[in-house]
Amino acid sequence: MTRDELMRSLAALRQAQIGSRRAPHKPLLVLWLLGRFSASGSTAVTYGEAEDPVSRLINDFGPAVTSVARARQRAAMPFVHLERDLWDLRDRDGVPIGPDVAERGGLLRDRGAHGRLRPEVEMLLADPGTLAAAARLLMEQHFTPALDVLIRDAVGLDLADADADADETEQAPRGRRRRRRRAGFAEEVLLAYGYACAFCGFDGALGRHPVGLEAAHVRWHSQDGPDEVNNGLALCSLHHTLFDLGVLGLLPDLRIQVSQLYVARSRAGRAVDDLHGQPVATGRPGRPAVEPEFVVWHGKQVFKRPGAQVGR
Ligand SMILES: [Zn+2]
Repeated sequence: MTRDELMRSLAALRQAQIGSRRAPHKPLLVLWLLGRFSASGSTAVTYGEAEDPVSRLINDFGPAVTSVARARQRAAMPFVHLERDLWDLRDRDGVPIGPDVAERGGLLRDRGAHGRLRPEVEMLLADPGTLAAAARLLMEQHFTPALDVLIRDAVGLDLADADADADETEQAPRGRRRRRRRAGFAEEVLLAYGYACAFCGFDGALGRHPVGLEAAHVRWHSQDGPDEVNNGLALCSLHHTLFDLGVLGLLPDLRIQVSQLYVARSRAGRAVDDLHGQPVATGRPGRPAVEPEFVVWHGKQVFKRPGAQVGR
């Protein structure tokens, strides 16, 4: 396997999406394995070891589920189904387990299921530039930039050194689809909302330059959300992060929702609760409001609805 082939295999994980449903389970398992590899030099892991941390990642960064029982074993799906050109899964006797086995945590534990990225994959990942490129590709294709640092921290990946050679990874391997962000999107969105957070009105500036204000995609760029004002919101950094994590959401009539799973004790923390039911700021005259279809996407794929178990 060459580095290009590895990148192609990782890029192909995106095709697991069904329609517009996000499927970040396999990418999150792989990102977690990359963190483990950079810490220990090996990706060998039993299902029992992976279940808790990987399920937690999927609950935190994936779409919500409604059943607590399912939330606990979400790691089972990618553990069973991760492509076998990348992943070797065996039972306690060393017999390979195929992708047709039931994705049930208890069953995988009973069989002593343990997996490891294939030796040729680990060999490529021993190069820090390749490991960083692999992690970056998965984050770009499945998440949104405001979550990059949170995901890296959650899986224990420190890519600081490798960011220096980010340019090198711009040479996308053949067959890999990469949609660039349209330059101008951020400026148009900030302008449309008068350089103020559409949730709280924050409009801080340093001299003449806005600070702590960002253009958020409602439907993520990586999930085919267009770089257009009708898919954007000007948000302060805090509300952008909370929106991307699904703590904050929107109703189709553009009223703000706060997830019932959100908890805070301090006055500043509880200020977020006060946003519940408030209308989003309307854009400047002549600027399109957020399209309901993008709001519906966010509500289904990102917003943490009650019933889902987050962080366990
Ligand atoms: Zn704000």
